[in-house]
Amino acid sequence: MNEMSLNDRMAVVTGAGSGIGRAIAEMLAARGARVAAVDIDAAAAAETARRIADAGGRAEAFQADTSAAAELDRAVSGAVEKLGPLEIMVNNAGILDGYFDAHEVTEAVWRRVIDIDLTGTFLGCQRAVREMLPRGRGRIVNMASVAGLNGTGGGAAYVAAKHGVVGLTRQMAAAYASRGITVNAVCPGAIPTGLRAHSQAILGPGVPDMSGRGIAVNDDQVRAVVPAGRRGTVEDVAAAVCFLASDAAGYITGHALTVDGGWRAK
Ligand code: NAD
Repeated sequence: MNEMSLNDRMAVVTGAGSGIGRAIAEMLAARGARVAAVDIDAAAAAETARRIADAGGRAEAFQADTSAAAELDRAVSGAVEKLGPLEIMVNNAGILDGYFDAHEVTEAVWRRVIDIDLTGTFLGCQRAVREMLPRGRGRIVNMASVAGLNGTGGGAAYVAAKHGVVGLTRQMAAAYASRGITVNAVCPGAIPTGLRAHSQAILGPGVPDMSGRGIAVNDDQVRAVVPAGRRGTVEDVAAAVCFLASDAAGYITGHALTVDGGWRAK
């Protein structure tokens, strides 16, 4: 048996309309999973599902803001109804905070970032374990960041939220390890995606332009902080998620797996 196969598993991926989430959805589907692509952007989620179907996989799209429990609940219930019992939950949806230090960030931006990045991840975990506990099995993978381990890689709100995601992952791993559910986090470094632009749009007017902020914006900065000397790809991150979702990772839980070209090791 191929321990990396995800044949016939059902996976929900949040933030699946773009970037890392889309790559995760496509790679899970390519390994045999039936995939529910959830995103706040309905057209983006539909496009991911279409790409998976075009490649011969099985996927459905659902629109939901993951920070709203009722919306997420509707999406997961719809996924279970259409695709079968939930085996894999990937809580990937997230936004950047504009790299604002504590004295700069507004209360509104702080709350929205914590709401989406931490509370949304919690709500996804909670909804998933309610499906998984009665079946005595399941895999949860939460998208943290190097900013969930270091005091850099984001502003105050993003770093606090991603540290929260790592803490939540460890608590849940300990709580559910004896009940067949593994809970892990993946911590990407610098990965080119639409994260800055999407975060800007989701946070709305009044948030200053964040396009040039951060410690790994240009190539020289990337070389300075990333020992590998380059950015990662969305597929680098998706491969780590697929591993943690597979049978091969059955004894791995509570781990925060960096996919960062050595950034954190430095
Ligand atoms: P992205 O903007 O390309 O993709 C994020 C997707 O999440 C978008 O489709 C967006 O519409 C969706 N989304 C945002 N808020 C949502 C909400 N409330 N409900 C539902 N969907 C929502 O960005 P990405 O880089 O692929 O980011 C994916 C995850 O990876 C995020 O959690 C991010 O913090 C994390 N991450 C990214 C990097 C990086 O360098 N790109 C590094 C570390 C961690």
